[in-house]
Amino acid sequence: MYRIPFDRVNWVTSSFLIGTALIALVGVPIYLVKFGLNWFQFAMFFFYVTATMMSITVGYHRLFSHLSFKAKLPVKLFTLIFGACAFENSCLNWASDHRRHHKHVDHDEDPYDISKGFFWAHIGWLLFKLDPEPPMDNVADLRKDKLVIWQHQYVHWIGLVVGLVIPSVIGYGYNHVMGMDPWNGALGGFLLAGVARIVVAQHCTFFINSLCHTVGRQPYSTSHSARDSAIMALLTFGEGYHNYHHEFQHDYRNGVKPWQWDPSKWTIWTLSKLGLVDGLRRVPDGRILLAEMGEARRKAQLHLAEISTHSAADTMHELVEKLSANYHELEKAVADRVQLSREVLNRWQDETRSLMRELRRAAATA
Ligand SMILES: [Zn+2]
Ligand SMILES: [Zn+2]
Repeated sequence: MYRIPFDRVNWVTSSFLIGTALIALVGVPIYLVKFGLNWFQFAMFFFYVTATMMSITVGYHRLFSHLSFKAKLPVKLFTLIFGACAFENSCLNWASDHRRHHKHVDHDEDPYDISKGFFWAHIGWLLFKLDPEPPMDNVADLRKDKLVIWQHQYVHWIGLVVGLVIPSVIGYGYNHVMGMDPWNGALGGFLLAGVARIVVAQHCTFFINSLCHTVGRQPYSTSHSARDSAIMALLTFGEGYHNYHHEFQHDYRNGVKPWQWDPSKWTIWTLSKLGLVDGLRRVPDGRILLAEMGEARRKAQLHLAEISTHSAADTMHELVEKLSANYHELEKAVADRVQLSREVLNRWQDETRSLMRELRRAAATA
């Protein structure tokens, strides 16, 4: 039988995660039934969820962990302060864990290694201490940033004041001005924009480590477990295109196609137009398409090997031949840094997609 290794339990983190979840699941419904929800409390909850999640996705993740763009002081300050409100540890710790996740994905040194199971990747890795704790030897660049170090030192105080005390004070003040019971407003601010928001933001972040390595497609690579899922992108402010992200981690975009839901990308782009960030890193379209074509070709060849005796193999064979020829042409163009026209790239993209559709249809009818 599986036994919990009590000597390794991280009691502070475990109590916090379980305590906040219990308050959110029990205290919040009781409050809502008793006092109802007014638009002000809802708006504050919405603001806090967005600010916290965006600070993790835009700040902790794309800016500090992956250096996918450069940010001016206001953006750094905002994302470090509201990132602290997520209670996901300091930016320095977070980035160190995350860089190890990318470097050792699906292996033992990956802190949220999905091969240890869904529960471990989602939250289990936080409940237990590692012995010995891995060294934080991969964030030397961030240690030079005074703001990052300041946040590292005071992260829990910042989270406590900005993430829990301030929503309570605002709730108190609003009810006071509106002639309602101020303590009732304070409790609402604490429970909704405070605790419930922390739980929502945390589990949405944890989903990136668990569900985004479990559900969805792998259009760019199957060499790791990361997956692309539009539903996950909705829940994670655009981080659901995780297969792309693991393939091209320094791109500021995760949802790289224009129609994909990636509010974090839109925010970074908008901030760049306002002059608050710059140096946005983008992988050239040719390289992205090359990865997609390579993956489609590999999957089609695997499929062909299985159905070689079948009559449907002929059509598929033709499609694969065509794709292979295009793939080699694109591979050479990317290597020689030749700029291909938009039309050619679009045509190859369409052909790759129709081949993938064909494969899915074949798999569905098999
Ligand atoms: Zn990942
Ligand atoms: Zn990442």
